[in-house]
Amino acid sequence: MAEAAICPIDAQFSGEISTLLSSPPLPQVQEYFEALVSERQCSGIKVIPDSEHGKGVHSQFDFEENDLVLKDRMLVGAQHSSNKIDCLVCSFCFQFIGSIELQIGRKLYLEELGVSPFNECGPSDQMECSSSSEKINLSQDIIQSLMNGSLQLPYSEKFRLPSAVPCPGGCKEAYYCSKSCAEADWDSFHSLLCIGRGSSALNTEALLKFVKHANETNDIFIVAAKVISFTVLRYRKLKQQGKLDTSKSSSSCIFPLLLEAWKPVSMGFKKRWWDCIALPEDVDSCDESEFRMQIKDLAFESLQLLKEAIYDSECAPLFSLDIYGHIIGMFELNNLDLVVASPVEDYFLYIDDLPPSQKKEAEKITKSFLDALGDDYSISCEGTAFFPLQSCMNHSCIPNAKAFKREEDRDGQAIIVALRPILKGEEITISYIDEDLTYEERQELLADYGFTCKCPKCIEERP
Ligand SMILES: [Zn+2]
Ligand SMILES: [Zn+2]
Ligand SMILES: [Zn+2]
Repeated sequence: MAEAAICPIDAQFSGEISTLLSSPPLPQVQEYFEALVSERQCSGIKVIPDSEHGKGVHSQFDFEENDLVLKDRMLVGAQHSSNKIDCLVCSFCFQFIGSIELQIGRKLYLEELGVSPFNECGPSDQMECSSSSEKINLSQDIIQSLMNGSLQLPYSEKFRLPSAVPCPGGCKEAYYCSKSCAEADWDSFHSLLCIGRGSSALNTEALLKFVKHANETNDIFIVAAKVISFTVLRYRKLKQQGKLDTSKSSSSCIFPLLLEAWKPVSMGFKKRWWDCIALPEDVDSCDESEFRMQIKDLAFESLQLLKEAIYDSECAPLFSLDIYGHIIGMFELNNLDLVVASPVEDYFLYIDDLPPSQKKEAEKITKSFLDALGDDYSISCEGTAFFPLQSCMNHSCIPNAKAFKREEDRDGQAIIVALRPILKGEEITISYIDEDLTYEERQELLADYGFTCKCPKCIEERP
């Protein structure tokens, strides 16, 4: 039986922690979402607090079928660790970068190196191992020539990607589509989580250990660390802007600033991870409490490593196990996947669609690469993200809207389109699950989100 993890910060700052975890006052919630809606220019929707679900999103005018309802930017997100081998994307907006040649060459190169996908999966098992069977190996020279640009694939100029801008901190881990994404990421998250020389982390060795632990257990810890880094950096900015009376920097005047810095995160629905995580099928229900204890211990281990790397005493409550558990629970409960379709897939589809003679000519060069990639040629960028407005949309098994990326949506934004005409004032709903499942199957899956569905379809089909 695992020992219960004890975190001294939890005891010392219990008052501050419960304030951080309580729902903000209603007028503040309304003001926050009104500002977001106008920033996102999606005036067709309004977030309305409701007693049953906490919040709901309602339409402000009539939508036709296929109309764009919302384009939501993420508050925090990260590409899955295992997916980093497959796709090179901007670490801030998640669009593909470099070139088609670089995408293909880099993937083949990393596979050849035997950089193993981190497939020792943790409790939330999201990582799949790429199917590397029966692939044809290409020579290192050819792979290098793809990566260094000396080999250009036919028609790749039709699929131009922004060139990769390296991290200003020099970590050689994060790359961007532009200088502005590099700067935005640096200011909001990365300056504290960078392992390069320019990092403002306390201890980059510890940071490496933290990342390794997350890669070997569950990469949800990496997004959780980004939430903490985001809040610490926001806190420091607020403080710098002179919103703190430095003559008396006692905890009583520091805390309101921390609370303000935490505000965007406070708006997300949260529960403690080890309390809300669904019991995996292979865990017997009589082992449930031990399972939950193990999850809690895993989070504790991760948090200790993170604390060693980026602890800030003025933001101490953020480094409590309770806050850490709630941040992870926020990602678990909101089921918001980050997905960006791959231009490499589009490229090979384009080649396949060429008129026969041109296709034959092109395939003389492209076929060996397609064979070497195998089924992996179409892997999209995948990760976990928190989208503040999309996360307010309630579930229905007969939803009137859905998450759907259109041809032009080439980055990590969430796109919601109307599935059918939506009338002004109607609640906008999406389905969190496959709505074609049976009543029982649906309810079982929805239990993971902590509710019983009472949509019209469920009321009708209820035994
Ligand atoms: Zn970008
Ligand atoms: Zn960096
Ligand atoms: Zn339902």
